[in-house]
Amino acid sequence: AHLGILRRQASRESAARTYARSLPIVPVRARGVTIEGADGRRYLDCLSGAGTLALGHNHPVVLEAIRKVLDSGAPLHVLDLATPVKDAFTTELFATLPPALAARARIQFCGPAGTDAVEAALTLTRTATGRSGVLAFTGAYHGMTAGALAASGGGREGRVTRLPFPQEYRCPFGVGGEQGAELAARWTESLLDDTKSGVPEASCLLVEPVQGEGGVNPAPDAWLRRIRKLTEDRSIPLIADEVQTGVGRTGRFWGVDHSGIVPDVMVLSKAIGGSLPLAVLVYRDDLDVWRPGAHAGTFRGNQLAMAAGAATLAHVRENGLADRADTLGARMLGRLREFAAGHPFVGDVRGRGLMIGVELVDPAADTPAGTPPPPAPRIATAVQRACLDRGLIVELGGRRSAVVRLLPPLTLTDEQADAVLDRLTDALAAAAR
Ligand code: PMP
Repeated sequence: AHLGILRRQASRESAARTYARSLPIVPVRARGVTIEGADGRRYLDCLSGAGTLALGHNHPVVLEAIRKVLDSGAPLHVLDLATPVKDAFTTELFATLPPALAARARIQFCGPAGTDAVEAALTLTRTATGRSGVLAFTGAYHGMTAGALAASGGGREGRVTRLPFPQEYRCPFGVGGEQGAELAARWTESLLDDTKSGVPEASCLLVEPVQGEGGVNPAPDAWLRRIRKLTEDRSIPLIADEVQTGVGRTGRFWGVDHSGIVPDVMVLSKAIGGSLPLAVLVYRDDLDVWRPGAHAGTFRGNQLAMAAGAATLAHVRENGLADRADTLGARMLGRLREFAAGHPFVGDVRGRGLMIGVELVDPAADTPAGTPPPPAPRIATAVQRACLDRGLIVELGGRRSAVVRLLPPLTLTDEQADAVLDRLTDALAAAAR
């Protein structure tokens, strides 16, 4: 059955399918961090629905919340009408927001995907400011609809101006550290103040607190505070895309909580739906310039997703799972860095909380002194495959797909974390051979 399903789907599905290419498995059961395939094999899932499953697969509190709605006779779909389920979700979400934003927050249910909420944020800020330019960073990923895509790394569109995102390992200025972040901030500042640049006036600046698809690049806190100040001084709405960094993933409830900045707009999806599709925008009330119907959509807040999401948010908050992600993530990074020290093909290990990246490089390549060796996507692909052979699911990211990414559930136990690291380091060693 396993191979039959794989073959049939490969012959019938569009060439656009992605995960199924590199992960030839047929999941039939799952619980926590574990997925079981149709062939009976079990895997530790460190992809977690691309960072969606904060509590892992089929967590009892999530299942119970969904069942409660199903058994209650409540309607499953009522467009954007007010319901008790929506009310409970909104209350729970607001309790987690940075207090300065929560005090004046409006929520807009978009959806069902993260990209829908990004799109809404772009339209909202354009409407509110009367300007059209969009500022976004190198290595960014915001989604696949036109506006979100244009704002993403490889995107091209007249309205989008690309700014340098500070990086420790591949610093765009070749210096790294605080100095590199300072240069990146100054670049942004001079661009914002250059009225003759021909760059359209900015309606917003979009930033991920940790770039995920871009290869796990944490934004330095001090730099993010500078960016906040620069945009605030010029009345440019700052949109924090927390689609992947939200709900405890980075070791704080929201990625912006590390730096303490208060964004004007937050884009939320993935984990807020507790494994079901849900996407919302949260913004300061003075930005609420929509006329009714100015931004519509049929699926704005699915009842089951809001119930699963509220249960997830509450569970993460009540059980301190953001702190857990912080300590466990630090421990995992430590062990991976130890491994990297003895293996030159591991160029860099980075991350925040349980958002971890391991960049594979070609140490034998000729590189100018002081610059890191080039990315090695071939080794990364081999590592991903070797992980799968050892019962571990990981994803690749980064511009050249040379970064092995881990997004395990926040419920990962110490023993499971050790098993993940044993398999990963074994796969790394095997793949480089
Ligand atoms: N923003 C970020 C930061 C993301 O990581 C993603 C998805 N990986 C998106 C937006 C788009 O979300 P979706 O795939 O649900 O449209």
